Amino acid sequence: MTTRIDGNAVAADIRESLTERIDTLESEGVTPGLATVLMSDDPASETYVSMKQRDCAEVGIESTHVEIDTDAPAEKLHGAIDELNADPEIHGILVQMPLVDQVDTRRVLRSVDPLKDVDGFHPENVGRLVAGHDRYRPCTPHGIQKLLEAYDVETEGADVVVVGRSNIVGKPLANLLLQKAEDGNATVTVCHSRTEDLAEKTRNADILVAAAGRAEFIDGGMVGEGATVIDVGVNRVDADTEKGYELVGDVDYESAAGKAEAITPVPGGVGPMTRAMLLYNTVKAASIQSDVDVPL
Ligand code: NDP
Repeated sequence: MTTRIDGNAVAADIRESLTERIDTLESEGVTPGLATVLMSDDPASETYVSMKQRDCAEVGIESTHVEIDTDAPAEKLHGAIDELNADPEIHGILVQMPLVDQVDTRRVLRSVDPLKDVDGFHPENVGRLVAGHDRYRPCTPHGIQKLLEAYDVETEGADVVVVGRSNIVGKPLANLLLQKAEDGNATVTVCHSRTEDLAEKTRNADILVAAAGRAEFIDGGMVGEGATVIDVGVNRVDADTEKGYELVGDVDYESAAGKAEAITPVPGGVGPMTRAMLLYNTVKAASIQSDVDVPL
């Protein structure tokens, strides 16, 4: 019987555990504050930002939203980030990606105060993670670690294959699982579009993570018997629905579930975890900046 890994349930537990920590911070006069910054008219980005604000409200994090006109110069965005960096009520800053063309994304990532970088994308935080003394783990990879932990999927000694080498998912996840740590100690293979014999590699995985952004391209033939399959992908495909599309993962769920011991669905797998871990990092940021210790 294949286990369907329930990201909504694990994310709810994480939110619940954060509520207690937020109460502790509140009792010391600290309200965790997250600022979301949007410079895009991509409807998906707008939706993500409003979901993040809703999540904050649900657990008692104060959220502030800054919207920059898409045809404004890049300096306008930098001015807004500088103000948020200086604002003591703001503990976390999330700049929604992707940004408009006139903006240099790397410069933006560098401009967020590393202590407020709750995405974990500032080079200082990336470096700390690689070196094994992380401050903020990027939300999606951290959410995947929490899912594995919640379902007692052992990473120590496991052969993990990550399909995708992006800076937001594939690379940080590979680094985290590689760390000499209880939630790491895996042997990690990272695959990408130039990888040869992909199926041969994925079939050998004890834990297979699909983060390629290709609709349902990992099927049962690419999954080893008894593997744990984590599907990060969120892909829009045309469908006969009200919106004219539906969201599917990178994994063909039915055929992969026939081989896997445990598998995440899309939606309801990794997505809710990414959102929960942003709240987690915001609470951690508030704790670090206020010197009120809340164990996380
Ligand atoms: P990117 O497009 O940045 O990276 C995709 C990676 O997959 C690249 O490394 C690319 O290789 C690799 N790749 C693409 N096609 C293939 C292929 N046929 N075989 C092997 N490797 C391939 O994507 P992201 O990492 O940003 O996102 C990946 C997916 O996860 C997307 O669907 C995205 O929407 C989703 N996502 C979901 C989140 C969630 O919370 N559920 C959060 C973040 C992302 P190369 O480097 O050679 O181009």
